[in-house]
Amino acid sequence: MTHAPVPPGATIGFLGGGQLGRMTAMAARTMGYDVRILDPEPDCPARPVASAVITAPWADAKAAAELATGCAAVTLEIEQIPRPSLEAAAAVAPLCPGVEAVYVIQERARQKEWLATNGFPLGPFRTVRHAATAADAVAALGPAIVKSAMGGYDGRGQVRVRTADEGRAAFESLRVPTCVVEAFLDIATEVSVLVARRADGTAVAYPTSRNFHTDGVLTWAVTPSGVGAARESEARALALGIAQKLGIVGLLAVEMFILTDGTLLVNELAPRPHNTYHHSERAHPTSQFEQLVRAICHLPLGAVDVVRPAAIHNLLGDLWSGGAPDFTAALAVPGVRVHLYGKKAARPGRKMGHLSADGATPEEALQRVRTAYDALTA
Ligand code: ATP
Ligand code: MG
Repeated sequence: MTHAPVPPGATIGFLGGGQLGRMTAMAARTMGYDVRILDPEPDCPARPVASAVITAPWADAKAAAELATGCAAVTLEIEQIPRPSLEAAAAVAPLCPGVEAVYVIQERARQKEWLATNGFPLGPFRTVRHAATAADAVAALGPAIVKSAMGGYDGRGQVRVRTADEGRAAFESLRVPTCVVEAFLDIATEVSVLVARRADGTAVAYPTSRNFHTDGVLTWAVTPSGVGAARESEARALALGIAQKLGIVGLLAVEMFILTDGTLLVNELAPRPHNTYHHSERAHPTSQFEQLVRAICHLPLGAVDVVRPAAIHNLLGDLWSGGAPDFTAALAVPGVRVHLYGKKAARPGRKMGHLSADGATPEEALQRVRTAYDALTA
């Protein structure tokens, strides 16, 4: 099958107009594409970048088909879209990354079972559908995290437990039909790998990003990760293998843990742009957003080598508790840029934007975003 390049001037549809959709839409605009968006929220962050916005819930399959009508390709920024809506869009225009890949990823238990079945390395886990089996799982695994199989992000829908009784209580408190109970791992370093893959199977893996989370939410990320050449190629080969097996067209982010004993494990997958690659705009010749547009438009994939160390620091809604922060001091730090998503309401924990910086070394890039962040809270 040939995949002719989609020429600039064509329209790309986005299921989701949050910050990921907004930044990808801006890259699409830069390259001369038109942008159309579906999002449940009329005031979504990508709205100012789109020619047309459809406001409808994810379960509205008719709206998904309407979005796809006239689009050369449809992509998404959120994996938790009901399968009938994905199929409705895919029946009208090519849906990237593909219905089946998104279906596997969108439910945590299904995703983990798929990874295990296909021989990819995971920490010990159990899928549980009853409070009693949740208790048994914690008794068998020891200290654990009980994670809702659907709907969790930024550490939401997760409870850390130590005992069988706590496991039972956690399952009951989450009030969902299915949970994954994961053994609490002794993590030394978190990294991720972003893969871009075209329909013809051509693929590239970005160098690893090193990521630091606080209470389950990403705080900062930096590239190069400094994990060493052997670990670097192992992580990239692992991510490429998963993207290949899933038949991804577009982007796949693979979150990984390196344990204190050196073991490399997969944490979870995301079939879309990823928070840990926002600094790809600074560190690589091709940002993740431009790369997604290239991949789905059958254009040559862009270079992903590190041209300059870079880092990001997230800006959560908590910073807005006394009104919008003053960014003047942050912008005075050399190399720092402010990225805001245009969200009207700031809630604690909500991702409102991020700071990025480059530097002569990864340490310097990270120091710059942290200094700029501290200036916001001073
Ligand atoms: P996000 O959407 O931000 O990626 P999420 O809600 O899907 O997050 P996970 O990626 O499962 O959540 O977990 C968030 C963070 O919690 C991880 O990056 C890691 O720091 C920590 N964590 C998750 N699972 C484990 C585990 N089994 N053992 C130890 N720490 C863990
Ligand atoms: Mg995660």
